[in-house]
Amino acid sequence: MRYVLSEQYLLRGWDRLPWAVVRRPENTVRFIDAPMFRVLELSDGTVDFDLPLISDQMRDVAARLEREGVLRALADGERAELTDDQRYVRYPNRFIKTVHWSITGRCNYRCRHCFMDAPDARLGELDHDTMMDIARQIVEAGILHVNLTGGEPLVRPDFLEIVDYLIAHHVVIEQIYSNGRLVTRELLEKLDERGTHPEFNMSFDGTEGWHDWLRGVDGATDDILRAFDLCRAMGFPTGAEICLHRGNLHTLRDSVNLLAEHGCLSLKTNPVSPTEAWKRSGSSDLTLSIEEAAEAYLTYIPRYFEDGMPLSIMLGGMFSCEKGSTDWFVPRMHVATCDAGEKPDEAVMQDCLDSCICGHARVTLYISPEGRMLPCMPLSELPVQDDYPAVQDFGLARGLTDSSYLRLVTTTVGEYLARNPECAACEYRFACGGGCRAGAIRADPDNIMGPDRAMCALYRGGYYRRVREVAEAAAKMNG
Ligand code: SF4
Ligand code: SF4
Repeated sequence: MRYVLSEQYLLRGWDRLPWAVVRRPENTVRFIDAPMFRVLELSDGTVDFDLPLISDQMRDVAARLEREGVLRALADGERAELTDDQRYVRYPNRFIKTVHWSITGRCNYRCRHCFMDAPDARLGELDHDTMMDIARQIVEAGILHVNLTGGEPLVRPDFLEIVDYLIAHHVVIEQIYSNGRLVTRELLEKLDERGTHPEFNMSFDGTEGWHDWLRGVDGATDDILRAFDLCRAMGFPTGAEICLHRGNLHTLRDSVNLLAEHGCLSLKTNPVSPTEAWKRSGSSDLTLSIEEAAEAYLTYIPRYFEDGMPLSIMLGGMFSCEKGSTDWFVPRMHVATCDAGEKPDEAVMQDCLDSCICGHARVTLYISPEGRMLPCMPLSELPVQDDYPAVQDFGLARGLTDSSYLRLVTTTVGEYLARNPECAACEYRFACGGGCRAGAIRADPDNIMGPDRAMCALYRGGYYRRVREVAEAAAKMNG
């Protein structure tokens, strides 16, 4: 029996994760062990698995992979071979699943809270050749998914050239972040012609005119709702984010339902960040405390169930639910015993200590408009961003091999606790892990390894426990 790797699969590997099989066109990655990888390597259409040097165990693995569709058994006399693209490529750098790429620091809106002062183009944008070189480096580092963001990514005249390069190299564009104004039928037709249908993620900041108010332009609400309708009509999925503040907080329920009516599939909420732009705009009186946001979620969760879970939702990292599913969860209650201050079992503790301080940042690299490699967009506003390498100067693969960026995102909770006595002594440390680095540095600009005070308030205030109790009761009441 001879096997060949099915045509949609490729063999890939990265530093410290050397064996993986990637499935096109979605680019899903499955990390496997060495024996399974050996079977896949031998499945090039030439090796007879009935030979005595092939063990029974290898034959069993091959049969299983055939049932899963990863391998195809060849008929007697059938010839087949791997394409060049399917053959094993090992990237020298560490694995990153997705690049969240700010392709410009310019924008056609004037949001009061913009991290990067995009209306004034404070971070500018890189020239075309540099951008294409970064795209090439993304491909050569084995990064399989990209989100395009800004600023407003659609203001770049070479937007479609960047898209074309990524598509030509089989990189999946998962999301395009936009304020919606430039989401036109013509643009969507061009993407459709290219066979790519990314999710358009468009912020919506409240009914009653609050969206126009926050976005700083008249007609923003009409534009965003038109963009959601257009995406739905043309088969592009949509998601949204809402920045909450004291002005728009009471619109949360109406805003969720309005977005759902316009075909939006998912929503993330967060309190507005007190950025420099927000302070300059004279809006600081409307800044929500983390406790106010948490209380608002506690009030809203029963409404969400009453309204039939109209879209998938993530409320400030405190409550998550898939549309139409009963599988809601409280993200930071995964170590349930921690909330009560009880000691979790040894295996749970070890898992926590070995995990990276930010699971999201570990697999998602943010590239700023200046080309800097950062764990997340909020850091692009802060002076600390100067400590991290720029792709065009340092090299992406090098940045993913040995750099200040890589050291930050691969820091484990155990290493963090060793550097932070306050968190090490905290009863919530195994659930919290010290919180978010952007949150920490906002509290203390000189210490990126400090405690995230928002997490302290949420754990010590019992908010995660209360969210779970409220969600359990609401889910029960609504069947
Ligand atoms: S739409 Fe986004 S990039 Fe543009 S000004 Fe608003 S927050 Fe900044
Ligand atoms: S950030 Fe606060 S809640 Fe989290 S471990 Fe540190 S002290 Fe505890």
